[in-house]
Amino acid sequence: MLLREERELVAEYGRKMSADRLSTGTSGNLSIYDPEHGLMAISPSGMGYFDIRPEDVVVTDLGARMVEGDRKPSSEWALHAAFYRRKPEARAVVHTHSVYCTTFAVLGKPIEAVHYAIADAHTDRVPCAPYETFGSPELARVAVDTCGTANAVLLANHGLVVCGDSMQSAYALASNMEFVAELQYRAMCVGKPNILSGAQMEEVLEKFRTYGQPK
Ligand code: 13P
Ligand code: ZN
Repeated sequence: MLLREERELVAEYGRKMSADRLSTGTSGNLSIYDPEHGLMAISPSGMGYFDIRPEDVVVTDLGARMVEGDRKPSSEWALHAAFYRRKPEARAVVHTHSVYCTTFAVLGKPIEAVHYAIADAHTDRVPCAPYETFGSPELARVAVDTCGTANAVLLANHGLVVCGDSMQSAYALASNMEFVAELQYRAMCVGKPNILSGAQMEEVLEKFRTYGQPK
């Protein structure tokens, strides 16, 4: 089976995304990119995450040419392909409709530096891309354009997209952004959140370069 490990990981993290309530029903999608062959393993469209087996994960190139798999690929394949094209270091993309991120996407408002953990997205503010229909090439374009050098972007009236250098790090980022969005929402319910300054975030972004165990 082509990209067996990647397809197993897409199936595993899809189950995790549902279990962790980062996606409801069949919403959201995930992929892993293999730069050597220019192929991505992407979740199938409209299937419950607990039903997806590795062989249901579809292998396509970045032009949506089917390479292996019997299922229809995620309707957001263009969104995933756009991230791999624009960000050569990206190896995984995770798209969720997680509730707190999507709440700010509905408001058309960014996630701000209400907590230093936002630096995980390589930015001090996760912007919100203008509304475009799900699964459209326009959505893919506005998402990568608005994302810029960050690793996360909100999609107006839709959800969140993140990328990372592995499925583990992309998934952790999606989870972290939901944590920061929830804090922002909760703080706004009872007051006006303090936003960390540019200088404070510069310091955090610098520290994040060497955070954790050396690779
Ligand atoms: P798929 O089931 O086609 O991946 O679509 C879910 C989704 O979130 C569309 O934006
Ligand atoms: Zn979606």
